Amino acid sequence: MALMEVAQGNRRRGKSRGSLAQSVEKWFKIAGRDLPWRRNRTPYGTLVSEAMLQQTQVARVSPAWEAFLRQFPSVRALARAPQDRVLAAWQGLGYYRRARNLQAAAKVIVGEYHGKIPCDRLSLEKLPGIGPYCAGAIASIAFGQREAIVDGNVARVMMRIHGRNVDGDSRTGKAWLWNRARDYVDESRDPALANEGLMELGAMVCTPNSPKCGECPLHEVCGAYASKKQDQIPTPRRRAARSVLHVHAILVIVNGRYALTRRQSIGLWSGLMFPPTIESPRAISRAALAQRIGVGGKALSACGAFTFLTTHRSVRFRVWSIDDASARELKNAQENAQENAQENAWTWHTQSAVEKLSITSAMSKIFALAEAQGNANVKARARKNGGK
Ligand code: SF4
Repeated sequence: MALMEVAQGNRRRGKSRGSLAQSVEKWFKIAGRDLPWRRNRTPYGTLVSEAMLQQTQVARVSPAWEAFLRQFPSVRALARAPQDRVLAAWQGLGYYRRARNLQAAAKVIVGEYHGKIPCDRLSLEKLPGIGPYCAGAIASIAFGQREAIVDGNVARVMMRIHGRNVDGDSRTGKAWLWNRARDYVDESRDPALANEGLMELGAMVCTPNSPKCGECPLHEVCGAYASKKQDQIPTPRRRAARSVLHVHAILVIVNGRYALTRRQSIGLWSGLMFPPTIESPRAISRAALAQRIGVGGKALSACGAFTFLTTHRSVRFRVWSIDDASARELKNAQENAQENAQENAWTWHTQSAVEKLSITSAMSKIFALAEAQGNANVKARARKNGGK
């Protein structure tokens, strides 16, 4: 397909379209950031970095990537590790489903590919958690395959260079973007450098707001720059308001042990250990909450509250503890119920075990509030007992 705007610009400036990728390659060799996974490229290191970089900033990924590779230095080491260790190593990166998918992919690679990461896009796309972007990135960057990549950064750069707004969510928009990304990589000298350079350009120069066109290796052929429409391409989107979720975390402690339950395999903190929760899109009164838990209203003590933001949600936590007598009753009721159903079973954990399992910031905050309230209770009791 003819690239009218770019071709016109190129003709005006005597540049060939083929120089897009090559300009980026040259620029990237000089301007690319020194990141740990770029120093000694391996397929496994690339697989891990691409999994981590989905939805997480480079600054947080860099130290986590190095620590992860120290703990799990190979696909086989990752495949055979206990899942809780893998999740703990993912601490600070969020979106723990990626860690579970990464380990599931490692198991498939060991089981079906003798521990060698496949180099072709089709096989890569069949691995758990690997979509078209990730497959293209691994195939091109780790194996030098002439494969295209399209993510948010690449889409923005392509639209601006071509001076064209497309709806990246529509079928035709997606097809257009993938075709442009294929044209781009087809004309590269080195697909790995070209694609990685394109990602870097989108992340560091052709940013959503205030792109640094003066530093851009493509400004001479850029349609958006020529027409001064950088702030209109892509069409600015109004961010959808975050939906609100109210989460009541209930601390049930019997004989010094906390009740925890493994969350469902989909949704927030999926598959992780958590205190029992009551979740609702609307706020729930203390009385209604007590009724849902099956205790009297006075059994609940508020430990505190905090808000946790995800990309799409505002999660409003309220943390409650339960008095000893009600906690014991709940434990008995749970044990009777669990004779019939293992799902949502409660298990009992010491403080130190809970600390090890508190790998998410939400869980850490819940137990920090619990601890603060516990200390306050001790002080209150001491005051009541005459300061002893
Ligand atoms: S010239 Fe500006 S708008 Fe065009 S690709 Fe470069 S940074 Fe983006």
